[in-house]
Amino acid sequence: MTRDIGRRPLPRSLVPLPDESLAGYVLRLAHRLDRSPGRIAELTTLGNYRQDRVLALPAHLVVGLRPSVAANFAAAARLTTVEVAGLGLRRYSQVYPPLAGAGVQGDGRVLYNAWAFTAASRFCPNCLGGDGDRLQQAHGGPWRQQWHLPITFACVRHERLLEYLCPHCRRPPSGRLGVKTSLLLHIHCEALHPTQCRNHALDAPLRRPRLLCGEHLAGEVNSVTPILDAEALARCVALQARIQQRLRMSPEIESDPSYFHDLIAVAQLIIMSWPVPTRMVSTPASMVEALDTHIQDVRRKAQSLSNGRPRELLEPPTHPAACAALLLQADELLAGRQPSRLREVMPLLAEAASVEERARFGKLVNHQPMTDQLRLAMGLQHLGSRVDSRLRMAATQPISLPGAWISESQVPQLIPLEWYQRHLRPFTDTLATVTRDTVRHVRRAGALMLAQLASGNSVKECAEALRIPPGRADTSIRTLKSRSSSRDWQILQAGVQAIAQEIERAQNRVNYAQRRQILALWTIPDGAWEQMTYDMSPRICTQRQRKISTIVVWARVTEGDYLLSPLVRDEVCGRYQPQGKPISKGVAAFVSARTGERSILGERLGRYAERIAQWCDEQCVTSSA
Ligand SMILES: [Zn+2]
Ligand SMILES: [Zn+2]
Repeated sequence: MTRDIGRRPLPRSLVPLPDESLAGYVLRLAHRLDRSPGRIAELTTLGNYRQDRVLALPAHLVVGLRPSVAANFAAAARLTTVEVAGLGLRRYSQVYPPLAGAGVQGDGRVLYNAWAFTAASRFCPNCLGGDGDRLQQAHGGPWRQQWHLPITFACVRHERLLEYLCPHCRRPPSGRLGVKTSLLLHIHCEALHPTQCRNHALDAPLRRPRLLCGEHLAGEVNSVTPILDAEALARCVALQARIQQRLRMSPEIESDPSYFHDLIAVAQLIIMSWPVPTRMVSTPASMVEALDTHIQDVRRKAQSLSNGRPRELLEPPTHPAACAALLLQADELLAGRQPSRLREVMPLLAEAASVEERARFGKLVNHQPMTDQLRLAMGLQHLGSRVDSRLRMAATQPISLPGAWISESQVPQLIPLEWYQRHLRPFTDTLATVTRDTVRHVRRAGALMLAQLASGNSVKECAEALRIPPGRADTSIRTLKSRSSSRDWQILQAGVQAIAQEIERAQNRVNYAQRRQILALWTIPDGAWEQMTYDMSPRICTQRQRKISTIVVWARVTEGDYLLSPLVRDEVCGRYQPQGKPISKGVAAFVSARTGERSILGERLGRYAERIAQWCDEQCVTSSA
């Protein structure tokens, strides 16, 4: 066979039906010309593919044809190239992004992606019955393109779930994936009606030509999908209608492809954290059952394989009812993607998923396309985790964040005492022994976790941003973790989230990074120092006391840790400054003084610090700290 055959037009042809798939079109054309689909494929040069010496139509053709093949096919079938392109799923690739990474690529590679399309088409028996039009009466209604999308599980027109198995032989009636990927089965076998099952008959002998099942799929077939109650069905159809509406949107103006990214990511999170999600959504029981059966099946299958097959577990269920249940739950959990709601529900699922499927969860959070706000909400429960280079968890990945969210510059070195008392104290109370060091560890760990929440960076990177030596950051988190159960650790995480929400609601947010930057080389000026100490004894009016006072003001203004003040430690290398250690001891003694001149000076420094804070906030700093 040569390609020239394809350029010779067929004696008769058909106009594609609206939304018809390539496979369906080939079936109808074959029926019209009384040829096998394989012969049609040869005559239109679709069949230039040989696998296992049998001419087959690879499943990826459902997405689109190579340009040369499309041109030959158009010429042979008397179609325009636009009509041929209209037969493929490629036209949805801008609104349904998984399709962009499936089928024939610009560089000639062929990619498969379980969330992009299914080789075996689901089907609506009523749609296959046709609309009464003369041609549809003769050759059946359209096999619709969208039935190949995993996100299509219901027929909105006929308000029913789709079927996916032949009611007689209980196998998918058309294509399959796997080693012998195929869009149509037994393409060289007899010319069946386009709406008949193309599986070989269950009792057929193995020699060719094989007898086919031939069950009629159109009209009133015995359904193998569960009968749903009216409410469950209405919810399925409503979600399907919204999905179809998104598929119809114009890519440039109104579409939001990130919805499908998020929907798929949450669907995978549901599978990994199953059955935790059932407690959080209102999916009808009959549908939960279908999904549960599916998930238990794939889990059993994955366990029985030596390495498991990571992908299979996270693929969309083939069963329309299970698939509908999964997507209904995902859509409900996304809840219009309000950040506050996401941060409420996602950490619970992420927690369960990372226990059940640690490696897969790491991959999901790090590599699966999704919006920043969803990724961050899923990554929340890794707050305070140390860098895990093997899994590269969410916390280790820089993420660009929505503007409304808190920023790392709003995080001080230590959680201010007022916030600590309100939000982190409950965690401290769970610890067996509490010293002043413990409180410092909690306030420091809280600040690091808050910075993680703001930036999505690792603990180490956050420590650098807050000018905390990474070793100290690590010690604080490790010390607390070793002393608390995972349940208690969640109390700390919840406290940090509450602080983040408080900052989010605040009218005026303090830019602590700017304050740290401005005061990095600052000491109390001569005039101010004289004003505060003019009536004090020479014991107070020393350069040493001035240094100590500078550190006290610095710590108040930046909510910083005096042990890490630039006058105590070098901010870059982290080493003690000359006299740094004795000076820091002097600060400790000074702040604990309750009477005498030191206490009076302390009060004056407090009022002075307020003015310095205001002065810092009024400065325009061009480079960020
Ligand atoms: Zn239908
Ligand atoms: Zn069958």
